[in-house]
Amino acid sequence: KKLGIALVGLGSYSTYQLAPALLDTQHCYLAGIVTGSPDKEKIWGSKYNIPEGNIYNYDNFDAIKDNKEIDVVYVVLPNSMHADFSIRAAKAGKHVICEKPMAMNVEECDAIIKACSENNVKLGIGYRLHSEPYTQEVKRFVREKTFGNVRYISADAGYYSGSNPEQWRLNKKLSGGGALMNMGVYAIQSVIYGTGENPISVSAQEFSTRPEYFKGTDETITAQFEFKSGVVGTIMTSHNISANRLHAKCERGWFELDPASTYIPLAGRTSKGELNFKQESQQKLQMDDFAKHVLFDAPNLVPGEMGKRDMMIVEAIYKSISEGGKKQALSFESNFGFG
Ligand code: NAD
Repeated sequence: KKLGIALVGLGSYSTYQLAPALLDTQHCYLAGIVTGSPDKEKIWGSKYNIPEGNIYNYDNFDAIKDNKEIDVVYVVLPNSMHADFSIRAAKAGKHVICEKPMAMNVEECDAIIKACSENNVKLGIGYRLHSEPYTQEVKRFVREKTFGNVRYISADAGYYSGSNPEQWRLNKKLSGGGALMNMGVYAIQSVIYGTGENPISVSAQEFSTRPEYFKGTDETITAQFEFKSGVVGTIMTSHNISANRLHAKCERGWFELDPASTYIPLAGRTSKGELNFKQESQQKLQMDDFAKHVLFDAPNLVPGEMGKRDMMIVEAIYKSISEGGKKQALSFESNFGFG
């Protein structure tokens, strides 16, 4: 059986990445859509052969509970709508994939996790890189200590967000924050799977060079992490600087991905040479991995608790900035099998 996925929110990520990938997936397919734009109902319906009965809008979405062809709801809306639609999907008895960042704050992450657990449905976050071979190789270097222990890890994730101040990512009510919420979660993820450890503290700084453009959201943030084993880490995330890199200095060499979190092609090298893996749609691999979790009880590579952990780190970073860079202690129960 292939699982039927319904995409909620047909913006650029659904249009250019997820829907095309779903034409290629082995264990799931695009069975339905949920959209606020009536014109997209027709366009998507005919392009992807979606029956009228599997097309919903934001108001009649809850009726999806009676639809046997939809097994998974994939929430691809602005961040402020993640919790609402993930919880409604769980209450409708559907498995949930929720895009990153998981929600606006830790409290919302808890509410999503609770709704999925109470309704006995699976929950995954849209962290596609865990299904991607370059990232999996980094995790293997860490696990097998290919270059000895990691001593220092750094990660950058940012892009130049142009000149449209109307975009929802720059509206704090819709995004919950700027670069950190959008790209920063990739850098946070990188320093964690690049060391195999959750951090035990973070200190952070915010920089603003275009305050007239970035009115309500962060433009550039740097943060420093400590890890229990003594590893030190730094991240930089920005809506004003293009950067996308993970670099680790180890006892006996180094490894690097650059770019580390864009769509294909990723690239990587180490002190022993170039990395070279087959380039496939990351979204295809990610959605098939989630479907295997639902269908065959394969491990969930991206559980809700992981999204919540990252949101706890995001909140600690904003708190550190508001306290002039003061170090914030962090503590977590699990590192989700990394390292
Ligand atoms: P987008 O702006 O292209 O699309 C947003 C969609 O939400 C549109 O269809 C829009 O009509 C709809 N929408 C509903 N209410 C809205 C409102 N009040 N304001 C604006 N749009 C509204 O965004 P996107 O790039 O598709 O991002 C959607 C989500 O997916 C975000 O949470 C983002 O972080 C995430 N995302 C993840 C990845 C990834 O690689 N995992 C990549 C891109 C986006």
